Amino acid sequence: MKTGWDYEYFAFKKRNLQEQLEKTENIKQRKKIEEDIDLCDYLTTILLFSTGETIDSDITMKQFVEEIYQQDFSYPIPVVEQEKIDEITLSFLKLPKLKIERAITSISATDSIQIVGDFIKDQFHEKHYQLYKDIFMDHSHYVLFDPNTDLSNVVSLDGEMLVRIKKSNDMEMLSSIAHEMGHLYRMSNNSQMIFTNFYREYESFFYEFHLLLWLIQNHIYRKEATNRFLQLFDIVEKVSYMRYCIQNYQLNQIASSKQFTEKINQFHLRRDLHFRKNQDLFDLYITALGMDFQTYFHSFMAVLNHMDDFDRYEQVIKGIKNRNESTIQAKILTKNKNSYQSYVEYRSMLQNLS
Ligand SMILES: [Zn+2]
Repeated sequence: MKTGWDYEYFAFKKRNLQEQLEKTENIKQRKKIEEDIDLCDYLTTILLFSTGETIDSDITMKQFVEEIYQQDFSYPIPVVEQEKIDEITLSFLKLPKLKIERAITSISATDSIQIVGDFIKDQFHEKHYQLYKDIFMDHSHYVLFDPNTDLSNVVSLDGEMLVRIKKSNDMEMLSSIAHEMGHLYRMSNNSQMIFTNFYREYESFFYEFHLLLWLIQNHIYRKEATNRFLQLFDIVEKVSYMRYCIQNYQLNQIASSKQFTEKINQFHLRRDLHFRKNQDLFDLYITALGMDFQTYFHSFMAVLNHMDDFDRYEQVIKGIKNRNESTIQAKILTKNKNSYQSYVEYRSMLQNLS
């Protein structure tokens, strides 16, 4: 199965948009069309990078990465009571250290697409599978497997949804397909609210966690799926801990990984986070600073609390459309205690499996 964005598609889209622009007078509509034209150029640049072609452009790699970073994290950050996060973070630190093995089994893009398709067919309603098939199987030009990126994401271009998956040929790649499918499902229901709600990662974790559990239960790449699941727990704990340090020990002004490590040691705060080198620690610091972590954190907890309930997913996706964000947020916070309990249970269940 051939997958990949293609130049002709972007060129065609761009010509189309330019024609639309000529015929449009409404300022708001013009702005939207102009943004989509920029997006065409931007996606073409990503495609050039991913195929390793020479780029005839004045954009540097650094600018490029910064641009992606900004684009991805530009939605509003909800305000959540800090004590609640701190309380849970400190409980994390009391949990036994996670043991995670590095999985080395290679999994191809073709197999990954097939497996996620089988999972969706088996577990979700038919309309989920139809959407998945449309994007991942029937329209190869909607999906790019990109070896030169650290993140997977989705964008909407003039009403069509495009996906980029980090090409690592392993369980991370497989589970990222499911993760992005969660975003796509909501976008297909509600394209107006792509980055603006509290439950943004709920939709994707729901897919991803269920996929991993389904793989484990069906003995498909069982070990790899278990380790990937544990890895996600590990990321949440590390980033949460890092956020805690940043907020409570005024670590915002750090300039280098070396300085950060010194500071952490000075406060005797460094739990054994098993980092290979200073750079990893600093990367985590940058992630914790830039990421909309509260969204990530609460979504993670909420999904673990809903693992038996597929109808809940549909309700939440509908709720995003109708309810206002602070209501949803308040609801999750009152359920924090249950969620944490589920978190601990899944964590130890997975650790025993691995
Ligand atoms: Zn996501």
